[in-house]
Amino acid sequence: MIIGAGVVGLAVGRCFSEAGLSVLIVEKEERSGESTSSRNSGVIHAGMYYPDDTLKARLCVEGNALLYEYASKKRIDHKRIGKYIVACSKSDFEKLDFIYDQGIKNGVEILKVTKEEIESSESDLSVCAGLFSPNTGIIDVPELLTALEGDIQHNSGMISFRTKCEKVERKNDVFIIHCSSHENFIVESKFLINCSGLDSENISKKMSFLDKRHVHKINLAKGHYFKYSGKNPFKKLIYPIHNESSLGIHVGFDLSGQLRFGPDLSWVSEVDYSFDETLKSKFVKEIKSYWKNLDPNKLHPDYTGIRPKVQRKGEKMKDFIISDCNDHGIKGLINLQGIESPGVTSSLAIAEYVKELTLN
Ligand SMILES: Cc1cc2nc3c(=O)[nH]c(=O)nc-3n(C[C@H](O)[C@H](O)[C@H](O)COP(=O)(O)OP(=O)(O)OC[C@H]3O[C@@H](n4cnc5c(N)ncnc54)[C@H](O)[C@@H]3O)c2cc1C
Repeated sequence: MIIGAGVVGLAVGRCFSEAGLSVLIVEKEERSGESTSSRNSGVIHAGMYYPDDTLKARLCVEGNALLYEYASKKRIDHKRIGKYIVACSKSDFEKLDFIYDQGIKNGVEILKVTKEEIESSESDLSVCAGLFSPNTGIIDVPELLTALEGDIQHNSGMISFRTKCEKVERKNDVFIIHCSSHENFIVESKFLINCSGLDSENISKKMSFLDKRHVHKINLAKGHYFKYSGKNPFKKLIYPIHNESSLGIHVGFDLSGQLRFGPDLSWVSEVDYSFDETLKSKFVKEIKSYWKNLDPNKLHPDYTGIRPKVQRKGEKMKDFIISDCNDHGIKGLINLQGIESPGVTSSLAIAEYVKELTLN
């Protein structure tokens, strides 16, 4: 059984159902992807940012290729649009070199580009130098979720909506999962995959048999997006230099070309998607560092999303946590925590990895 029908739970469900296992996903909301999977940038990342010995690096690079292949096969709207990572001052050059070297180590196609090369393609930008990632793209995430659901159903898997996992017990190597829906019921399963995103800490705590050392605190990092009502002058995604917690307020757009900026990062104590409009001046200042022609009057609040981070404020970037029997000693349990960005990109590779851990 799988807890959570976000992009990761669905990808795992598809992978297991294709392997011939009988799959049940429980999802507390009315639809798939109502949480973080519908509140992100929809970017197919290439994988140049993460240290080479991390799951984030491996699963992002593998997931990038798998996602393009799947999107083409299923006719999911997507574009391999490419992205510039830009240095806005000479003091950023060292960081640019660091990202380039990391990208090469991770096996990512990445090119060094001059100020002139960037500005001849993106005439509205004023930058000092940059990198170009040809394999960064955008995808219609709702279409991706629908395709994954379709595959699960085609393979006779089931998704039970408005169904909440309340508690998990374990008897004779079998998980006894207590669920609440219009009525309460129990599911028995040999395997349990926790893909509950922002709730992964709460769900882990509901497994009395799981040692507390393996329950990771989920820290909430909110991101806001502003949309731009003016003409979109950009052909590629534009990212300033990132920091330890986020990729910076970048230029993004959806498949219709609607220009938007974000996400920023603020640490919050509860899941609350309200929009803080006072952030506008911060956005204007950051965007103007690479796009001088921004008209602040055309910048409007769009939406927010919340990253489920195991990293705490001030700490270095932390990896995805995907723990199995070798870590926590419980056969059949795969516990996923801290599946923040690049979780959409990595979803199909995470699913293959979870299958390997479960069936080997
Ligand atoms: C601002 C932002 C921007 C991002 N941009 C990108 C990007 O451009 N590219 C990229 O690759 N990634 C991006 N990400 C990361 C990506 O969105 C996530 O990694 C991914 O969506 C996580 O999917 P998930 O299935 O693990 O979690 P979720 O989508 O949160 O799904 C978990 C599901 O579990 C359900 N659930 C929780 N508790 C229970 C329970 N007790 N019983 C039953 N169901 C339960 C929830 O309702 C939810 O539907 C971004 C994230 C954020 C916040």
